[in-house]
Formats: sequence, structure tokens, C-alpha cells
Amino acid sequence: MNAREPILDCLVIGGGAAGLTAAVYLARYRRTLRVIDEGRSRLQWIPKTRNVMGFPDGVAGSVLWDRLRQHAARYGIEPEPGRVESLVLREDGAFEAGVDGRRLLARKVLLATGASDVEPVVAGLREGLAHGQVRYCPVCDGFETQGQRVAVMGPGLHGLRESLFVSGFDNRVTWLSMGSLQAVSADQAGRLRGCGVQVHDGQPHGIACVPGAEVRVTMDDGQVLVFDTLYPALGQTHASALAVRLGARCADDGQLEVDSHLRTAVPGLFAAGDVAQGLNQISVAAGQAAIAATAIHNSL
Ligand SMILES: Cc1cc2nc3c(=O)[nH]c(=O)nc-3n(C[C@H](O)[C@H](O)[C@H](O)COP(=O)(O)OP(=O)(O)OC[C@H]3O[C@@H](n4cnc5c(N)ncnc54)[C@H](O)[C@@H]3O)c2cc1C
Repeated sequence: MNAREPILDCLVIGGGAAGLTAAVYLARYRRTLRVIDEGRSRLQWIPKTRNVMGFPDGVAGSVLWDRLRQHAARYGIEPEPGRVESLVLREDGAFEAGVDGRRLLARKVLLATGASDVEPVVAGLREGLAHGQVRYCPVCDGFETQGQRVAVMGPGLHGLRESLFVSGFDNRVTWLSMGSLQAVSADQAGRLRGCGVQVHDGQPHGIACVPGAEVRVTMDDGQVLVFDTLYPALGQTHASALAVRLGARCADDGQLEVDSHLRTAVPGLFAAGDVAQGLNQISVAAGQAAIAATAIHNSL
């Protein structure tokens, strides 16, 4: 390494819940860092989160994101817009990141790049999300579906498990199983029946949201099913490619394996938030970021 090349203590990739929390911890440990953020945090799609502590009346995800950025700014950290396109681990143990044609050097890297939901084709999807007709996270907002007609749309075990989970909120759940019913065991069918989950095994042909009112799902046989809430359960993609290319291990859906200090299998590369294994929640992202930042600080 050229001794004159500026090298950061830590490069934080991603400026959502995990990246910004880690940035505050690292700045308060008086470490040199930069946060590069592509600006697509899932926080911005949350109409109102009600399970983040300290906000008893709930808080819009966009407002929370802004507050997190203000908090980081208090310590001089401004996330820089951009996309980290490449990450190389050099022989001297430092990382070299390619960011929109620029090069950054860092002794440690925290990957806080999040995940994205596989989205169905829905007319009025964004409005439906804003009004709570389309929801992605029953852990976050199943409570809000009490007394409602709810559809869970997704094939296989993922859709089945999510249907059973959602049915725990005193609502009327239909599992849109998309042709996967034949693979359901007698035991699983019994559990669905026991939880009062209806099953519709056809293929949804068209979905339309009437914002503030209902979701209409037209099936391939022409039948129109009407719900108050639709949970697509089509899976998630975790933004772990930069780490996987370096040899980090991950699950089938790309979520990274980490140890109790949020270390990946690549020396010096940490991961926190949705991209790392664990429950995809804001509080978990913040907690993992705190642990990772402290481990990074102690390892420098
Ligand atoms: C509709 C909806 C409702 C939700 N409701 C709740 C709720 O009520 N409660 C709750 O706890 N959770 C909720 N969540 C989940 C919550 O949003 C996430 O758990 C949380 O945002 C995870 O934080 P993160 O920092 O890991 O990822 P994110 O906040 O998504 O941030 C990741 C950031 O990394 C950036 N990035 C990715 N790749 C790169 C790259 N190569 N270079 C630079 N930047 C990159 C992205 O653009 C993004 O800005 C909800 C999610 C959705 C979609």
C-alpha cells in the first residue's frame, strides 16, 4: 500500500437503519468513516411503523429515515449518494471499493445494503402500500389487520407459513397458493384448516388496489376476490453480492451468514441489518449495527 494513500478506518456501504446507526457509533468512537448510499432504503415505503420504541403513536418510515440522517449529521456524517459497484480485499488486508468510477480505501467494511421484496405486478401498488392495502411484513403490521379480509399471495412453504402466521391476528385469511397446493402435506392442510385459513390454488391474473378501500384479485378462472389487505409473500432478495464475490457465505436467498460479532467469513468484512441473517426489522438492524460497529472499533 502507498503510505500516502488516505485510508478510512471503515467504509459503511448503505445508509439505511443499520448503516446510519453504525455510522453514529463509529463517529462517537472517533473513527474515520464514510457512508455511501444508493438511497433506496426500505424505510421510505413504511407508511407508519408502530413497533419502533420511542414513538408510541407510530412514525412514518420517511420521517424516521430523516431523523436518523440528522442524528448522523450531528457527528459530521453525511451519507454520500452513490453505488459501491466493486469491493476487493487486497493482500495487505485493506479493502478497495469502486464507487461510481472513484476508488476508496478502508481497513474494515460494514455491509448494510439491506434487502428488497419481490414485488407482484399490482395496479396501484405504490398507493396501496401508502394506504396499507398492500403490506410486506406481518411481523411489523399484522396487528393492524384484526377483523380484516386478508390475502397472503405466494407459493410453497413460504406462503403457507406466512398464511398461518397472519391468521393469528383474529382476521379472515385466504392463502393464494398459486398452484402449490398439491405439495401441501396432510399435516399442513390440517394446520391451515385449524387456523381457519381458506385456500385458493389458482393463479392471480390481475391485481388492482383501490387506495383506502380494498384490493381486487382477479383469478385466471375469472373469479374476482376482494380483500382489505394483501400480503405478497414472494420472497426477498438480499443485497449481498459484494460480499459473496469475496467468499462470504449466505443462505439461498442471499442473506449473509454472520457470527455473534456480525463478522462474515471474509476477514475485516462485517454485515448488519436486513442483509445479515436475523429478523428483518428496524430494531434488529440498529442492534446489529451497534454490535458490528463496536467489534470493528475493537478490531482496529
Ligand atoms: C412496507 C414495509 C413496511 C415495513 N414496516 C416495518 C415496521 O413497521 N417495523 C420494522 O421494524 N421494520 C419494518 N420494515 C422493514 C425495515 O424497513 C427494514 O428492516 C430496515 O429498513 C432494514 O434496515 P437496513 O439498513 O438493513 O436496510 P435499508 O434501510 O433498506 O437500507 C439499505 C440501504 O443500502 C443501500 N444500498 C444497497 N446496495 C448498495 C450499494 N451497492 N452501494 C450503496 N448503497 C447501497 C440501499 O439503497 C439502501 O438505502 C418494513 C419494510 C417495508 C418494505
